Amino acid sequence: MNTTVKITAADAGTLTGWFKENQRILPWRNTGNPYDVWLSEIMLQQTRVEFVKERFILFKQQLPDIASLASCSEDRLLKLWEGMGYYSRVRNLQKCARVLMEQYDGILPGDPARLMKLPGIGPYTAGAIASIAFGIPVPAVDGNVLRVLARRFAVTDDIRSTDTRTAFEQAIRSFYEQDGTQYASDPAFCACFTQSLMELGALVCVPNGEPHCEQCPWKASCKAHLNHQTDEIPYRSPLKQRKTVERTLLIIRDGDRFLLHKRPSKGLLAGLYEFYGVEQKLVKPSEVTAAVTALGMVPIRIHRLPDSRHIFTHLEWHMTAWEIKTASLDTLLPDDFMLVNKKELASFAVPSAFHTYTEYYSLKD
Ligand code: SF4
Repeated sequence: MNTTVKITAADAGTLTGWFKENQRILPWRNTGNPYDVWLSEIMLQQTRVEFVKERFILFKQQLPDIASLASCSEDRLLKLWEGMGYYSRVRNLQKCARVLMEQYDGILPGDPARLMKLPGIGPYTAGAIASIAFGIPVPAVDGNVLRVLARRFAVTDDIRSTDTRTAFEQAIRSFYEQDGTQYASDPAFCACFTQSLMELGALVCVPNGEPHCEQCPWKASCKAHLNHQTDEIPYRSPLKQRKTVERTLLIIRDGDRFLLHKRPSKGLLAGLYEFYGVEQKLVKPSEVTAAVTALGMVPIRIHRLPDSRHIFTHLEWHMTAWEIKTASLDTLLPDDFMLVNKKELASFAVPSAFHTYTEYYSLKD
């Protein structure tokens, strides 16, 4: 990186002063409980704060601590996460809770190096837990922090690049070692500084549309603002195009019951329940009849349902769907299939990828 990024004590003092006056009230904030910081950081990955607020409270009512998370059954855990997407997050959360119970007496360590060895905890989450929950002077650079620092120092490098993130992490470390050395031994300051960078990005130096520079504590020193570059910075390289997968859902019904399929224990949406599907686009009734017959079932009536799409991080499902009414299925079911009525279905974790069809049948009433 050609640009110098040097955070001063004055920068940090102005920013943390602003944070104390303007921070949002969030259910995981200032609770003094590391579990809250960890859980919220995992939930907030790829998910909006407003949605997480409600879900965090519900999750904590059911699983209030590391011990209850570690011992929760898989089906109950996935049901609690339903609608949040990215289910590997909650699986890793539980894996991590189990390691904590076995190796750390059920207590999260404060040391970032030890945190990073735990399942599902990378450098950002380790930095966030260590600094916010334990007041350790370490960086936690998320998307908000990348944007704020890129603008403050007019860094034109790609904020998707690891080098840019590493340079910002190093700038925060250098701040604690040099100009901010008096703050490094102040846990309250470290917790406040990490959160103030994130909060500025969430509330003022916003990602979409113009930043609210007139309300910003850094407006007098921010290079992007002073140079009128806020629409060019941060620079983010375009994402690779997602792969498109054609799927046909076969929503098989036996009277009032639905056939539900448990996905394999590894891979996309692992272990979750779905309407059975094949990775092909079947548009002719004869093709659908053949696919259902291949499962050993006898279709009585078939009916086309609305198409839908679901976007994952790296791929996109384009779904064609059919409802198939069959004769009684009680004696035919393989192990990973089950028959459930509407009421029973509500207790299973059906991913939001199938939202169009759960809505269609009012299954979530
Ligand atoms: S002055 Fe504007 S561009 Fe600079 S950090 Fe503040 S909100 Fe962001």
